[in-house]
Amino acid sequence: MKLSGYAAVGAAALTVTIAGAAVTTVAQAQDHKAGAVAAQRALPSVDMEAVVKAASIDPRRADNKLTPGAKASVLLVEQALRDRHLLDKKYVDGYFGTTTTAAYTKYQKSLGYKGLSANGLPGKTSLIKLGTGRFKVTHVIEPGPRVKVGKYVVNTRTQKMLNEAQRLLHRKLTLDQGSYNPGGDPTSVGTHDGGGVVDINVKGMSSATRVSVARALRRVGFAAWVRSPQMGNWPWHIHAAAINDTDLSVQAQHQIGDYYLGQNGLANRHPDDGPKVTPIRTWEEYLRAR
Ligand SMILES: [Zn+2]
Repeated sequence: MKLSGYAAVGAAALTVTIAGAAVTTVAQAQDHKAGAVAAQRALPSVDMEAVVKAASIDPRRADNKLTPGAKASVLLVEQALRDRHLLDKKYVDGYFGTTTTAAYTKYQKSLGYKGLSANGLPGKTSLIKLGTGRFKVTHVIEPGPRVKVGKYVVNTRTQKMLNEAQRLLHRKLTLDQGSYNPGGDPTSVGTHDGGGVVDINVKGMSSATRVSVARALRRVGFAAWVRSPQMGNWPWHIHAAAINDTDLSVQAQHQIGDYYLGQNGLANRHPDDGPKVTPIRTWEEYLRAR
């Protein structure tokens, strides 16, 4: 019938149209995807290692010197905090001081983070989220899951650092205290509440051995000091805090900053009394330099 013939022609034409539309849609989708990839590639980079280092050192500085190598990355983080109305524009200056740390803490709390997760140090998840559409994050630091070393809990980054120090020393180290231990030892005033922190048992070590252990710990990226009973209400031990561990408690962050500034990591902020290791390196810097 003529009618059905027309209908058949119409249907065929319709099919062609749909096929044409479908081809266009796939092509457009590919264009969009290519555009998104290109946009991602075009985003500036935030070096997470540099930002965390600045966030440890800058709040402890008496002056307003910038942490070398951190300015461009810190500025991108500060601009993002400013645009979230968490940081006044006059503090967008590349200096990750106490005001920027407080702003970052507010940002972490706005994400629902509490306690250690709102410690003011940019962690991987919060930093990547802050950079959405603005910057990409390079040199990502990961403390890793919590594991046991003897009776004590540390994260896997700290565990690897301890293993490397033992390899350098040809000596097994025993812990007196681990990390993530809030209120576990009142003499540590909160330094062991977070990650990256251990006390090394020094029983039976000569004073020269204690110093060589502290030196090895420093070489692999700890701020480490031999502590005597004269310094505080504690037995002889070596206190070590892993530089750039993003789980550090605020008190331990301060010790890292003080270490970079040549101090002893105690409340009196006296000059560093430990074996000098220069340059000071984080674990990641140590691995790259090895
Ligand atoms: Zn300690």
